[in-house]
Amino acid sequence: MFSKILIANRGEIACRVIQTAHRLGIKCVAVYSEADANARHVAMADEAFLLGPAPSSESYLRADRIIEICKQSGAQAVHPGYGFLSENTGFAKACEENGIVFIGPPASAIASMGSKSAAKEIMSHANVPLVPGYHGADQSPALLKKEAENCGFPLLLKAVAGGGGKGMRVVENLTEFDEALESACREAKNAFGNPDMLIEKYLTQPRHVEIQVFCDSLGNGVYLAERDCSVQRRHQKVIEEAPAPGLSEETRRAMGEAAVRAAQAIDYVGAGTVEFLYDVDGSFYFMEMNTRLQVEHPVTEMITGQDLVEWQLKIAAGQELPLAQDQVRITGHSLEARIYAEDPDNDFLPATGTLRYLRTPQENTHVRVDTGVTEGDEVSVYYDPMIAKLIVWDDSREAAISRMVKALEEYRIAGLKTNVRFLRNLANAQPFKQQQLDTGFIDKHQALLFPQPHLDVHYGLAMAACYFMEQQKRQHSSSGDPHSPFGRHNSWRLNSTRVRPFKLEHDGEICELNITETTTGYDVAIDDARYDIRASVCDDALSVVINGHSLTVHCHIDEGRLTLFHEGEQFICNRFSESFDAGDHDADASLCAPMNGAVVAVLVEKGQQVSAGDTLVVMEAMKMEHSIKAPADGTVGEIFFKEGELVSEGAELIALEQNDEEAA
Ligand code: ADP
Repeated sequence: MFSKILIANRGEIACRVIQTAHRLGIKCVAVYSEADANARHVAMADEAFLLGPAPSSESYLRADRIIEICKQSGAQAVHPGYGFLSENTGFAKACEENGIVFIGPPASAIASMGSKSAAKEIMSHANVPLVPGYHGADQSPALLKKEAENCGFPLLLKAVAGGGGKGMRVVENLTEFDEALESACREAKNAFGNPDMLIEKYLTQPRHVEIQVFCDSLGNGVYLAERDCSVQRRHQKVIEEAPAPGLSEETRRAMGEAAVRAAQAIDYVGAGTVEFLYDVDGSFYFMEMNTRLQVEHPVTEMITGQDLVEWQLKIAAGQELPLAQDQVRITGHSLEARIYAEDPDNDFLPATGTLRYLRTPQENTHVRVDTGVTEGDEVSVYYDPMIAKLIVWDDSREAAISRMVKALEEYRIAGLKTNVRFLRNLANAQPFKQQQLDTGFIDKHQALLFPQPHLDVHYGLAMAACYFMEQQKRQHSSSGDPHSPFGRHNSWRLNSTRVRPFKLEHDGEICELNITETTTGYDVAIDDARYDIRASVCDDALSVVINGHSLTVHCHIDEGRLTLFHEGEQFICNRFSESFDAGDHDADASLCAPMNGAVVAVLVEKGQQVSAGDTLVVMEAMKMEHSIKAPADGTVGEIFFKEGELVSEGAELIALEQNDEEAA
């Protein structure tokens, strides 16, 4: 076994690998960018080396620097994690050439699967079923269009070099084809440097079921059951689980054996995942093989009781597979939710910011949190906005879901937008509990997943006011004045009959409250309603009894802005100051940049007539394209940015004069 390895990655996966390596007595070398100097993975490692500036191209993708650091530090092997260099043939080869073990498959196996079209070719020879379509080398738009017609609609355009849902477009009919092809090629070229596309029949209700495979260098291969990753947004996984609900033993075996066949067809070594589309009629089709450890590997660990990073290390060190196929056991059910900095209410746009307040659920045999951040860390534009993975396990799927819902309610983050509440609604949704899974789940169940907040606004405001009052008292008592009446613990109250007016801003509205201290607590008046409240604060928890109804919320206060956390929901309000201006900036928000990013295409000219829904500008952030569409019919006015320019969130991109309704 190795005595020292280098982890060529950051964030949760770097921390995850270090944890197992340390347990096995292996020393770890971390690498980091300037943005990550204080990151958790750096602190956890035994030594750490600076790679360069924040952008990945100047840091985590610097294969040459990483090889140099391996030599300098005496690391015998490199774990690439996922993303970055994990599926980079050149890097795997460079490791081999420099006598450093790449903890992953041989460069040749990565190359075979690196192109989705070449992979499909290999799989068809290995008798692994494929989705019908076109995966040829001829990429002329005219031929692609003809193949599209042959394939039929709806179809899916997929980047041959794709990953992470990038460069992928569903095309419903022939008239949409040209624009979709152009946009998908552009996105693929930007993200992967390769615009080539393949065409697949678009299955309308498939499930995404993938098999975890492992092969050792002695020619043995096993599958460690499957994961269901059907719940997706933008073709990216949101909640994953193992085993796949309702999958029969026969299908599991058929898929598992096909997956091992697929791996052995390319002389695979190490951890790999073979992804299948599982159709309503029970048939399954090869989609792609990922030649690395997957983000969602923990759910497999939870049901098999195995440590997959340990398997990777052993296999890379030349050892035999730890288990034979008939020794693999599945126990219970596991789910993983990916906690992202993003805005579910705004098409899941990635968010950035500082984790000003971060509380995670208690970890135990049922609950696991894999993360690379701590409170105070920044989620920047440079890297993937995943904050953590929350993993739960229990005897049954039902019990595991209950654990997930509870753990999500205990996951509290303030400072930036996250999908925590969305995930909680998802895990709690009846159709999810009833296993109505397919990749269209999120679109289909919008109403359940994006419900109106259920915490009553009056309750939120009243609790906020009580919290501010309690805070004030605490400050007085900790100011050291032994005579301060605020410091007393009896029921004495200063000016108990004095009515204090309070102004709070919530959701763009200013709300006026009147609060009076009573012998037992507070009397709060909002509009015509009165609330009798008892309140107590312990650390960050505020417990109240409002008109006899008791509940507890958690609070975080930051520069006068208060966040109350309740069952995964957040109630945010500001103490109103006269300088606050609610503004009316939303009127044409859709023509403003929805995030920091670059303008990649301006599709209209000044003076042009456009109709509602027409794409005006295409922006790109985190290598994903976002279309800015006309909210109404109108005439294009000033265009404020050119292609290639960087824009900040909220900047006006284009002026649109709406057509007069009578004239229209
Ligand atoms: P990427 O490598 O970019 O993640 P994949 O090929 O793995 O792309 O596909 C991602 C997701 O897109 C799948 O999990 C599935 O939900 C959906 N998908 C892919 N191919 C098809 C298809 N032919 N029909 C329907 N959905 C598909």
